[in-house]
Amino acid sequence: MSFSQQPFRLAVIGSGPAGVYAADTLLRSAPVKNGELEVAIDLFDRLPAPFGLIRYGVAPDHPRIKGIITALHRILGRGDIRFLGDVEFGTDLTLADLRAHYDAVIFATGALKDADLAVPGVELEGSYGAADFVAWYDGNPDYPRTWELDAESVAVIGNGNVALDVARVLAKSADELLRTEIPENVHQGLQAASTTDVHVFGRRGPAQTKFSPLEARELAHPKGLQVVMDPRDLEQITEAEWEAIKADKRTDQVVQTFVNWLEEQQRREAAGEEPTDREGNPVSRRLHMHFWHRPVEILGEGGKVTGMRFERTRLDAEGTLEGTGEFVDYELGAVYRAVGYHGSELPEVPYDAKRGVIPNQSGRVTAADGSVIPGLYANGWIKRGPVGLIGATKSDALETITALLEDLEAGAVAAAPERDGDAIVRLLEDRGVEYTTWDGWMALDEHEKSLGAAAVDADGEPRARIKVVEREEMVRVSRDAVNQPSHA
Ligand SMILES: Cc1cc2nc3c(=O)[nH]c(=O)nc-3n(C[C@H](O)[C@H](O)[C@H](O)COP(=O)(O)OP(=O)(O)OC[C@H]3O[C@@H](n4cnc5c(N)ncnc54)[C@H](O)[C@@H]3O)c2cc1C
Repeated sequence: MSFSQQPFRLAVIGSGPAGVYAADTLLRSAPVKNGELEVAIDLFDRLPAPFGLIRYGVAPDHPRIKGIITALHRILGRGDIRFLGDVEFGTDLTLADLRAHYDAVIFATGALKDADLAVPGVELEGSYGAADFVAWYDGNPDYPRTWELDAESVAVIGNGNVALDVARVLAKSADELLRTEIPENVHQGLQAASTTDVHVFGRRGPAQTKFSPLEARELAHPKGLQVVMDPRDLEQITEAEWEAIKADKRTDQVVQTFVNWLEEQQRREAAGEEPTDREGNPVSRRLHMHFWHRPVEILGEGGKVTGMRFERTRLDAEGTLEGTGEFVDYELGAVYRAVGYHGSELPEVPYDAKRGVIPNQSGRVTAADGSVIPGLYANGWIKRGPVGLIGATKSDALETITALLEDLEAGAVAAAPERDGDAIVRLLEDRGVEYTTWDGWMALDEHEKSLGAAAVDADGEPRARIKVVEREEMVRVSRDAVNQPSHA
C-alpha cells in the first residue's frame, strides 16, 4: 500500500447502515487485515444516537429489522471506529475542516425528506409527507412531538413498503404498539386518534406494487382490522399479466395475498356473515386497498383536506399505464404521501437535485464536469438514491471501499496536514459542540432500556425499551455518563 502517512485518516459522515458498513468493510479489507494499511476512522452523525433510519425509519413493530441494530452495535462496540454524534456536517464541521483533518471522507447521509407529489392541494392542512409521520412515530428528536390524528378517514398514497408501514401504524390500536419501543408521546397521540378507515391507493395494479410479501400479509394482522378489497381491481388483471405474475415469486405471493383477502370477503358476503378480523374479533377499523387510482387532486375547504380525486387507470395493449377518463372522489380528513424519499444537499458537496444524490462513479464523488474529486466518496442512499433494503448498503460499501483502496494504491489520495487524531475533538470543543460518544450511546441505550423495564405493555409485560425523544435529554444522558457536562 503506497499511502505514506499512516494511519490513513478517514471521516465517515452518517452512522446509518451505509456509514457503519463502509467503515467496517475498510477494516475488514485485505490491506488492513494483513497489516499493510493502518487506519483511524471517525464516524459522525448529526443525531446524538447512531444507526440512522434503522432507529428513525424502520417501523417500531418490525423488531426483527430493528434487530439489525444489534449487528451494527457489535461493529461499533469493537472500539476501532470512533463515534462522534450530535455533530452536523455543514454546521459544526465544514468540508475545509474535514480536508484538514482527514485524508478521505465518505458521505453516507441517506435521505430523510419526502419526494414531491405534484398534484394541486398538496399544501393543504392535513396533507402530510410520510417521511415526517415516520420521523414522528419513530421519535426523531428534530420533529414535532404532537401529530394531528383527528381524521376518521385517511388516505395513504403509494404502493411501496413505506406506504404499508404508515398504513399499518395508522390502522393499529395504540396499545398493540406498546410492546414496541415507541415513545410516550407517540403512544398518547395514537391512543387519542379518531382513525376508523385507512385507504391505500396505488396508481398501478396489484401486480405492480413494490410490497414485500411478508409486509403485505402483515397488513391484515392488527387486532380488530378488516382489509377491504375491490373485486374490480383484480378483475382488471389481463391474461398476459397473470402469466407474468406467476413467473415472479415475490409478485405472485403479494397478489395471492390480495386474492385470498378478496375470496374471504366474498365468501362472508355470500354467507351473510358479519366481517371480523383474521382472528374472529369484531371490526373496529378498516383498511381499504385501492389499485388503478392515479392521484389527480387533493380536495379541500377552508385550507383543510376534505378528500381526494383520482382517475382510474388501466394498462394499454403495450402494457403502458393510461387514464380511463373515469374520475372518483373520496371523502378524507387527511392524506399521507408515501411516494418515496429524497436525499438532501450537503454544503460544498456536489448534488444532483433531480435524483437527490451526490453524483459519483462507483462511490467516487464527481464534480459538475464529471471529473472525480480526489478523497471524497459516497455510500448508501445518498450515493444511489433512496431505494433498497438495508442489506444493499453492504454491497454498496464494498464498491465504495474498493474504489477508495484502488485510489490509495494509485497514490490518488493526498494526506491531510493534521495528523493528530484528537485535534478534531479539540476543534469541536472549542466550537462548543456537545458531541456524544460511543460510551455516551451505551449510557443512553441502557437508560432507554431501564425506562422500558419500569413500564408495562397491554399484556402487563415489561417493555423492552422506551425511546428518549428530546435531543437535549439524549445529549444530557449521553454526556453525563462519560462526565462531559452538557449545557442543557
Ligand atoms: C420508513 C422506512 C422504513 C424502512 N424499513 C425497512 C425495513 O423494514 N427493512 C429494510 O431492510 N430496510 C428498510 N428501510 C430502508 C433502510 O432504512 C435504508 O436502506 C437504509 O437506512 C439506508 O441507509 P443509509 O445509511 O444510506 O441512510 P440512513 O439510514 O438514512 O443514515 C444516514 C445517517 O446520516 C446522518 N446524517 C444526515 N445528514 C448529516 C449531516 N449533515 N451531518 C452528519 N450526519 C448526517 C443521519 O442522521 C443518519 O443517521 C426503510 C426505510 C424507510 C424510510
